[in-house]
Amino acid sequence: MNYCLYCDTPFLQQVSWSTVCGLGEEEQLCSACVNKLNKISGDICTVCGRMLTTLEERYYKENLCHDCERWDESAVWSGVLQQNRSLYEYNEFLKEVIARYKYRGDVELATLFHHGIQSMYDKHFQADIITFIPLSQERLWERGFNQAEEVARILPECHRLLERLIDEEKQSKKSRNERLGKTTPFTIKKGVETLIHSADIIIVDDIYTTGSTVRQAGKVLKHYGANSIRSITIARG
Ligand SMILES: [Zn+2]
Ligand SMILES: [Zn+2]
Repeated sequence: MNYCLYCDTPFLQQVSWSTVCGLGEEEQLCSACVNKLNKISGDICTVCGRMLTTLEERYYKENLCHDCERWDESAVWSGVLQQNRSLYEYNEFLKEVIARYKYRGDVELATLFHHGIQSMYDKHFQADIITFIPLSQERLWERGFNQAEEVARILPECHRLLERLIDEEKQSKKSRNERLGKTTPFTIKKGVETLIHSADIIIVDDIYTTGSTVRQAGKVLKHYGANSIRSITIARG
């Protein structure tokens, strides 16, 4: 008998062949919890990976959503992020799971996403280097771990390339225009220039909402000579 990693309900473990890269969510969650997760599937935006079936038709053209079209029209941001792929839709249930994982320090919940992130990487990505969105020193001290790093570390060639200069809270209080202005919350870590130069880099984060965080990080990496930037996220908001 297993116990659901999220709600503690006992359940019978399914027979599975997927033990090579960790247990899938079916082996760690009871069926009620598994059914509340909405895996991203079907037609998606080719850039940000959101499900087109969740959008009204006027919000996308061919396979590109309006948000991505707007990013592409901006002289500053065009081409910074080649592609994002997320595992699940950011619904109410996943919001609770991520909140418990991130804010209440239930670091074991990271294992829920390991299998999905690993298979997504194996299937769709090839990169020289994996990195993750860093937390500020204060936030890291408060939480004790970085939720994006916990997931990124299961992939090969994972390096810490970025530092966060502006605290997350101060950053979120700014307006969209201010947030996307000249001041970036990120800089690169000392001594990683040679790793970044000419590299195809994948940034791991927990949630892709507007896409501004991965783009701001990507912009800094490109400034230091990165060849391409893509991202893998747990949830697509
Ligand atoms: Zn459960
Ligand atoms: Zn899009």
